[in-house]
Amino acid sequence: MNGTKLAPRDQGAPDYTKFLHPAMARNYGKWDYHERIRPGVLLYVAENGDTLYTVRAGSPRTMSPDLIRKICDIADRYCQGYLRFSMRTNVEFMVEDEADVEPLIEAIKTELGFPIGGTGPSISNIAHTQGWLHCNLPGTDAAGAVKALMDDLIEEFENERFPNRVKIATSCCQINCGRHADIAIIVQHHHPPRIDHTNMQICELPKVVAICPVAAIRPAVVDGNPSVEVVEEKCMYCGACHGQCPSMEIRDADTDTLSIWVGGKGSNARTGPSLMKLAVWGLPNNPPRWPEVSAAVRRILETYKEEGKDWERVGEWIERIGWQRFFEKTGFPFTKYHIEDGPQAMWTYNRSTHVRI
Ligand code: SF4
Ligand code: SF4
Repeated sequence: MNGTKLAPRDQGAPDYTKFLHPAMARNYGKWDYHERIRPGVLLYVAENGDTLYTVRAGSPRTMSPDLIRKICDIADRYCQGYLRFSMRTNVEFMVEDEADVEPLIEAIKTELGFPIGGTGPSISNIAHTQGWLHCNLPGTDAAGAVKALMDDLIEEFENERFPNRVKIATSCCQINCGRHADIAIIVQHHHPPRIDHTNMQICELPKVVAICPVAAIRPAVVDGNPSVEVVEEKCMYCGACHGQCPSMEIRDADTDTLSIWVGGKGSNARTGPSLMKLAVWGLPNNPPRWPEVSAAVRRILETYKEEGKDWERVGEWIERIGWQRFFEKTGFPFTKYHIEDGPQAMWTYNRSTHVRI
């Protein structure tokens, strides 16, 4: 070291305490209770009687700097300059005085056009992956499918009418950013990747060989050049190799479809976290509005709303009635693709701490 002073480290999560609303900072660890006073509005009461109201608004998730500035203007006017984004890209505005709640809601609705809701047993804002706008892998546009779905389900965001909260997620490839949810929409490929052997010499082949969870890729010499081959009987069309190597293209506009998975959750309330299971497969990848996807999700939601008991999440409802009855009640066909034929998968597949499903 030559004694030169290093710049402050700026990676990693910042200290969140600097960004707490003043009422939150004052009462940190001293909240007595909270309640939902109407869909989208929560009241927090501290031990010393302080109150804080949070108003939750559904954002369109992909936002321009101009829109973010408008959101900040409202936070400056009503919330002492503080706001926060939830995990599912809801915007939460906080005010201490109840008299500010209605004017704040009015400003959100008229200036931003955002709906108020997403609390309690409603559908929270839908989490989606980046889609065609930002990523090099997508087989569909998760953002677009979510826009169409949210348009269809807006009343379920603004009201609390389900047995419990419903979290929906989408993923535009099979391997990456999508997450577990009560209902998830995920693209599916239906054949092994096509290899462009003329372009396989641009980076390290061992990396793409190692990425395959089922060891279906092996080195090969093609036309005298180093390349790879895929053992097609082993390939499960996951697309992990395409994420690693642009010369292994798996997307196919003619054959890619969308599937719906149900019953995942991350919380420990009542029952432990659970993985999703396949409910519907083979839905057309049909932009710009994906009507078949919206109709299938609505069918699951309507059945859950009618049949679920208070506090049951989607997966808990299905576990109680059984999967056979889930298919009977929703009317979706049960096929050979719904049968879990890899019971040892969790122990034998190539996986990191972030399990690839
Ligand atoms: S889910 Fe896959 S395709 Fe979609 S944004 Fe994430 S990495 Fe890209
Ligand atoms: S699609 Fe998946 S299973 Fe098939 S070769 Fe690529 S990484 Fe392996």
